[in-house]
Amino acid sequence: AGSLSSSQIQSDFHQLGTSFFTELKPSGISNPNWVALSNSTANLLKLDQSNVKSEDLKVLSGNSVLQGSNPLSMIYSGHQFGVYNPQLGDGRGILLGEIKGEGDDLYDLHLKGAGLTPYSRMGDGRAVLRSSIREFLCSEAMAALNIPTTRALSLVKGDDQIIRERVEPSAMVCRVAKSHIRFGSFEYFYYTGQKQQLQELLNYTILRYFPLLSIDEDGYVAFYRQVLERTAKMVAKWQAVGFCHGVMNTDNMSILGETFDYGPFGFMEAFNPAHVCNHSDHSGRYAFNQQPNISYWNCACLGQALSNLLPEAAIKQILNEYPSMFGNYYLAEMRSKLGFQEEDERDASLVQELLAALHQNQMDYTNFFRGLSGADFMALTDCSEDSSDSLSQWLGKYQSRLEDEKYCPQVRMVTAKASNPKYILRNYLAQIAIDKAEKNDFSEVNVLLDILSRPYEEQFENDAYAQNTPEWGCGLQVSCSS
Ligand code: AMP
Ligand code: MG
Ligand code: MG
Repeated sequence: AGSLSSSQIQSDFHQLGTSFFTELKPSGISNPNWVALSNSTANLLKLDQSNVKSEDLKVLSGNSVLQGSNPLSMIYSGHQFGVYNPQLGDGRGILLGEIKGEGDDLYDLHLKGAGLTPYSRMGDGRAVLRSSIREFLCSEAMAALNIPTTRALSLVKGDDQIIRERVEPSAMVCRVAKSHIRFGSFEYFYYTGQKQQLQELLNYTILRYFPLLSIDEDGYVAFYRQVLERTAKMVAKWQAVGFCHGVMNTDNMSILGETFDYGPFGFMEAFNPAHVCNHSDHSGRYAFNQQPNISYWNCACLGQALSNLLPEAAIKQILNEYPSMFGNYYLAEMRSKLGFQEEDERDASLVQELLAALHQNQMDYTNFFRGLSGADFMALTDCSEDSSDSLSQWLGKYQSRLEDEKYCPQVRMVTAKASNPKYILRNYLAQIAIDKAEKNDFSEVNVLLDILSRPYEEQFENDAYAQNTPEWGCGLQVSCSS
């Protein structure tokens, strides 16, 4: 008991029929070894981590198929870097099925790097250890930051030689999410003119994930609004924590508003609003400060894909509300980071001025906010180059804004500390863990998993992981290659 092999796996998505996927078995990686397991995702699935470890290596390395599972690769399309690509699909991913987790909710189990599929196009169907470590750690880090995200249950390494810019070891992540349906899933059926399948997919999505909504035009309108609300909320949390997704193509947008597909992502270090974390993104389309606009653009793509099923006027109206949905969520996030209990009309400009000052002073985004949560935040002026500058001026305004709050300073500090993480997945930290893991030392992956699962705790013994990024780690480049 407590392992996947002893769990009941079901395949609701499979019942939609073969217009939506291709049935096929995973092809495993050779001589698999455990790199890491997430205890918290295991708990979410009501599994016992040690039983998974002793019984499920074959399943989670794609070398055997669970009884009752009907593995499949999903079909979808999407806009990549603004250009429509008529056929994408799981090129290296396989949905094993669904199991019941906490609250009796169903969770998809998806193996990433499970071999060639009909949708592999030019790819080899594999995932390398480097990017699998990044996806595994960041999924779990984002969850601990209370940001909606897909999860990762397991990470295994294989012996296979995978060719990217260099030869790299193979790996496989078991991704866990309530849904793997993307904006691009709807786009596929819209652009291929499969009206009936489009509606079936929509009905399935609503019945399963939005059960309070009706299966009619009213329900479709409400669905579209809820997807936009969730997306706005997710992106607001990204902006607040300083997360840059890197590849916000419509096939990487979950219909549930969860952070989806970890590739060349990055957390903001020295604050730069125009930061581009994806080395392959030459035009800066997915720069940090473009993410809100791009999420709006992606929502418009979803609206287009649904345009035969709900009134265009409704789509337009909801889309027009998106900027204020985002703005409200973002401001609420930033108020928490600043430790405000009350709302004040100065707050939006206070946030803008702060960001400008952080940029000007090249401040580490995470460490600045964490410092601001403390008692002696006025000492932060010492970090700035010139103490008469924008940052000290801003701190003065902040102090007078705080004096207008009727709550005591302790309340501010508690709120702010719970909204400003001390520990984030800096690229250089991931890189150290990757370098060790490629030499079969998986200790650092597990150390990071543990630290990042408690990002708001002081963990004084781990202070070294909360320092500003060292110079050698600032220029690390991450590309789409994974
Ligand atoms: P992404 O940019 O990660 O969202 O991937 C875009 C598309 O490329 C998806 O359809 C992936 O399944 C596919 N893909 C990415 N890497 C590979 C690979 N190594 N082999 C086959 N397909 C891949
Ligand atoms: Mg993708
Ligand atoms: Mg990807």
